[in-house]
Order: sequence, then structure tokens, then C-alpha cells
Amino acid sequence: MFVFDEKTVDLVLGYCRDRLALDPVPLDYGGYATPLHDVLDGLISPEGNDPQRVLDLFSERLATAVISSDSPRFVSFIPAAPTKASLLFDMVVSSSSLHATSWLEAAGAVSAENQVLALLADLAGLPKGAGGCFVSGGSAGNLSALMVGRDTAAHRGHATARPKFACSEEAHSSVGKALRVLGVESFVVPSVDHRLRGDVLEAALASDRPGAADVVGVVATAGTTNAGIVDDLGGVGEVASRRQLWFHVDAAYGGGALFAPSARALFDGIERVDSFVVDPHKWLFGPYDCAALLYRHPALAKAVHTQDAAYLDVIHEAMPGADQAAQDEGSVPDDTPWNPTDYAYHLSRRARGLPLWFSLAVHGTNAYRDAVETVLGTAREAAALIGSSPHLELIREPTLSIVLFRREGWGRADYDAWSAKLLADQIAFVTPTTWEGEAAARLALLHPDTTLDIVREILDTMA
Ligand SMILES: *Cc1c(COP(=O)(O)O)cnc(C)c1O
Repeated sequence: MFVFDEKTVDLVLGYCRDRLALDPVPLDYGGYATPLHDVLDGLISPEGNDPQRVLDLFSERLATAVISSDSPRFVSFIPAAPTKASLLFDMVVSSSSLHATSWLEAAGAVSAENQVLALLADLAGLPKGAGGCFVSGGSAGNLSALMVGRDTAAHRGHATARPKFACSEEAHSSVGKALRVLGVESFVVPSVDHRLRGDVLEAALASDRPGAADVVGVVATAGTTNAGIVDDLGGVGEVASRRQLWFHVDAAYGGGALFAPSARALFDGIERVDSFVVDPHKWLFGPYDCAALLYRHPALAKAVHTQDAAYLDVIHEAMPGADQAAQDEGSVPDDTPWNPTDYAYHLSRRARGLPLWFSLAVHGTNAYRDAVETVLGTAREAAALIGSSPHLELIREPTLSIVLFRREGWGRADYDAWSAKLLADQIAFVTPTTWEGEAAARLALLHPDTTLDIVREILDTMA
């Protein structure tokens, strides 16, 4: 019915080849630069179209209306910097319809994904037996992990009808949203210099503040999105384990720095987590959409997330040895039966961990270490450059790779106009933020090819 057609294959693979070869990737323009209303009118019709026409329309009108998040000149939000190896293997995952829902169906894909999860668990210092799955992003990871934290609270001796999670006001917006989905309230603990600290958490929990007794878990952030700040994971983790709280670390952006020896001490305490999430589509140089979700005790997550349906019984029954391995908290060897669907709220899923697996296997972990260190170095140099520019003010030394600063005399409208002009001139995509109530400039460095020269070019436009 849908006829295989060599010409379309050549056409699309040719496009992919050309896109992969772009060096550097052009920045392009986003949603407000080009009128799009006429592009798609009438395109989807009963008869269909010539593939060449559709692809041309995509590449000329639609793709150029997407700012390339993998351009080294994209320094807004959180950029992407996927390796070519990971992008290529993403095409393999797509072309092979590679899914990885259960061991019964997809052992080969799951075992490779688990190899990567084991590596990340090891970097974090989790004990053998840790495991989890890849989900679509930090948001999905936070939601799935906090659901386990909520539903296992009773096992940890918290009998409350109104469970709450402690976090600081710096926690990512997706944490607040996950809690809303779960019907759980947040117990906001004041941060000190924008960090959640163990002693302040302890004081809040020991106080007679309403809700303190209902706290069943705590969420810390390892690399805030706005400023790259890492919470006091050691202190928070110590309070969490003493009080039997579920300890979740959101390292969606910052977790890539686990590969960097120069930053590793910032993460001390992460080895205490019950769960953590890191996005390979951010600082682990993988394609969208991919987050690694890990649990210290995967059996707890399995008890919460396993879906019960008559037609699914086979994926659980066909797993001799799996439950035993989970109970033993023994290591999860590559050939232990494992159903990724059991570790998050999803069911069907693409094997989205495989692009990272391929890239890690090809390039080796040293290349990841070097790439992350390069970015950390550029962030430090950018901060020094800003510090030595008379018209600029460095707001704080970067902890990781996000640099906040101000231009003397500028208000929000100035930053907005500057940002729009930089994009129009294709110099950079850099959007302003707010810091302590005032507009500020923000560079999110993550692409190893975002050089100090590019930073200098951006700063020169503020003179
Ligand atoms: C990006 C980010 C998230 C959300 O992750 P998505 O992959 O966009 O869903 C959560 N927490 C932090 C700290 C982040 O930087």
C-alpha cells in the first residue's frame, strides 16, 4: 500500500547527509521572522504530493523557521550539541522501528540502553543494582520518580494523607508541574544564595511550620537551569536519609558534568539519591528526546509503575530470574531480563537511549570528559572576559556553564532589542532572563564549538 520508493530514500537520506555535514550548523530564524500561513495551505490532500516538492517546502520554508539548537551560536535556554554519531544512530533507531518496551520483545536494545544507565549510575556513585530507563525528558523523569517517592512513602514510615515534597523556589518548573499532576504539594524551603542547603532544610522540617510533618521527600537540583547552581547535595542527602525522605536529584541539565573531574566535587552527595534524572539531549551530546532516569532500588519503581493488563502478562511472566535479581539488589548484568516500561509512567517507547550508547561506544568516555571540560573552561573564560569589560557586570562566577551578567544602564527592553538584533544578524541566539528581580543577560554554554571568540563577538555588540 505504501510503496517503497528508491527515489524518496535517496531524497531523504541525501537531505540527512547534507544536514549532518553542515559545519557549523547555521543558526536560522524562529517563529516570528517569516510568515508561515501560506506554506502549508492545502498540502495534505486526498491525492498526496511529489516527495521532492514536500521536502523542498520543508527544507526551504519550515526548517529555516527553526532556530538550530545545535548551532554553536545558540546560547539560550539549554542548547543541544548532539554528536554526529548519535544523530546517525538516531536514524538507525527510526529506520528499524527500534522500540524497547519489554525484554520479551527487545532484549538487544534494552541491554544496550542498560549498559549506558549502568555507566551513569556508576558515575553518580550509586551501588550495583541501580537501574531505570530512558524517558523523553527531565519533565517525564521528574514526574515518574516523584510518583515512586509518593507511593512508597508509607514503606518509609510516613503515614500522611497529604504528602508533600520539599524543594527550593529554584527547582525547575517541571517539578512544580509534576507535583500538581500527582496531587502533591510542595513544601518550599528558602534557599541561601540560591542553593538548597541541608541545615536550612533540617530547620524547616524541625519547625512547627504547617505541613512539615507531611514531607515525604525532597527534590534537589544539580545545575539550576537559570544559573547552573548545584544544591548542597551532601547536606540535603544526609537530612533525607536520616528522616527517611525520598531523595530525588534533578540533574537534567547539570548531570553531564558528572563526566568532568573538575566539577565532580559539586555533586558529592548524589550517591545518596533514591532517584535522579539527567538529560542526554542536553549536556551528554545526544539527540532529542532523551532523559536517563535512575533509581537506587529499581524494585520500588517497578512496584509502582508496572502496568497491569491481561495482554501484558506475558512480558512479566517470561522473565525468569528478573524479580529475584531485583530483590537481591544484585548487579543488573547486561542479560538480566528488564522491562523499561516498568520504571516510568510510559508503556510503548522508542529505544531512545541507543543514540547515546552508540556514540559512547564509538567515541569513548574520555571524549565526553574532554567535551564537558572544554565547555566548563569556556564558561570560566567568558566570565573573566565579562569581569574585565568596563561596561559589563558579572553577576556571579559560573558554577557550571551558565554565565549571568548585566550591561550597565540596560533595562528589559534593551536586552530584548539586543537579543532580536543578534538573531536577525545571525550572530547568536541569546535571550535575556531575570535575576533577583532585574533583567540580565544569560549565556548557556554547552556546545563544545561555542568558542571564546563567539562569546567575544556577542559581548562586542553590547559596547
Ligand atoms: C531542562 C530541565 C528540565 C526539564 O527537562 P526536559 O527534558 O525539558 O523535559 C528539568 N529540570 C532541569 C534542571 C532542567 O534544566
